Amino acid sequence: MAVEVRVLKETASGERRVAATPETVRKLLAAGAQVTVERGAGIGAGFVDQAYADAGARLDDGDARDAADLVLCVQPPPPADIARLKPGATLVGMLQPQADVARAEALQARSIQSFPLEKLPRTTRAQAMDVLSSQAGMAGYKAVLIAAQLAPRFFPMLTTAAGTIRPSKVLIVGAGVAGLQAIATARRLGAQVEGFDVRPETREQIESLGGKFLDLGVSAAGEGGYARQLTDEERAVQQQRLADHLKGIDVIVCTAAVPGRPAPKIISTAMAEGMKPGSVIVDLAAETGGNCELTRPGDTFDHGGVTIAGPLNLASLGAVHASEMYARNVLNFVSLFVRDGALQFDWDDELLAKTVWPERPSEAAPVTESPAAGAA
Ligand code: NAD
Repeated sequence: MAVEVRVLKETASGERRVAATPETVRKLLAAGAQVTVERGAGIGAGFVDQAYADAGARLDDGDARDAADLVLCVQPPPPADIARLKPGATLVGMLQPQADVARAEALQARSIQSFPLEKLPRTTRAQAMDVLSSQAGMAGYKAVLIAAQLAPRFFPMLTTAAGTIRPSKVLIVGAGVAGLQAIATARRLGAQVEGFDVRPETREQIESLGGKFLDLGVSAAGEGGYARQLTDEERAVQQQRLADHLKGIDVIVCTAAVPGRPAPKIISTAMAEGMKPGSVIVDLAAETGGNCELTRPGDTFDHGGVTIAGPLNLASLGAVHASEMYARNVLNFVSLFVRDGALQFDWDDELLAKTVWPERPSEAAPVTESPAAGAA
């Protein structure tokens, strides 16, 4: 019997993405797997049930979840759904097991072998599986569109019969994957764009996208290319210069993050209050607490004439392309262990060994096979 793969219908509120597309289902079938897609799983991302059926998948309403050896999802399933999985099954998705005690307990009670994709090492080889990057790209893009929508001004410079309109000045805080996509998007809309990051190597990346690197005169460059902790004095100088600079900025898009930690607070209440009325702050870091002190996750509100937005799950807003990218990331990842219709885990492969949860003891044997292995 070939390995049974199941694509879950997402249940989180507002989640429109799906973990497999008809294209990736075809490839899983070609790898010898049987694939079941839960009815309606792809509809939020524009993939109808018939398209999965045409690709060769079976459809069901989630009633035979305990038959699946490998379960694919975007967000973690609720504990009650985890309790319906086959004991010892493999689960792949953005699972964040440590973020919720009940979820972690449900996974362990069922001996689920989890691969939380956010744990994937960010090596060159893993790039095609990097869900953080693919989803951050969509989030950065949407954050700028939300900012453009909220701003009471044009982004581009316009020369009209009614006079010349100055371009909006947009500052992107944090120039990682989301921030760089935000810079590129704001530039395409014609804004004057600046980017700011504590990693000095982002200067070149920001400039290559047509943005200007905001240099506050305090470098956090440390040894080995890593940012170092600023002294209190340096931080105070940086904060003062940033506060002064923000008085001339129309739109801020915040994307700064530190992996596994709450978002760094960069825009203080006083800084936001010092901005011109009609300014907009879109805080993409809202999910982990926000880069702006005033941000309320999931809320958009006015604070003394400055609009502050803390949108959540922005990648889901672009569910079609976000799902296409996510599904390819997932396919590339599971291709490491779906072979000849069976599950075969090579624990010498660091992409598997460093992603699996619970972590394996370091003396783990090199290769193990799942119950479905070798039985294609
Ligand atoms: P992230 O979402 O964790 O952080 C976003 C940005 O916030 C980062 O650029 C970070 O430097 C910045 N930041 C943190 N604290 C800040 C502060 N106080 N002020 C201003 N900015 C601050 O990062 P990400 O987008 O997931 O990735 C960041 C890095 O990982 C980049 O170097 C990227 O090139 C690298 N990366 C490598 C690979 C790969 O090689 N496979 C894949 C993806 C990303």
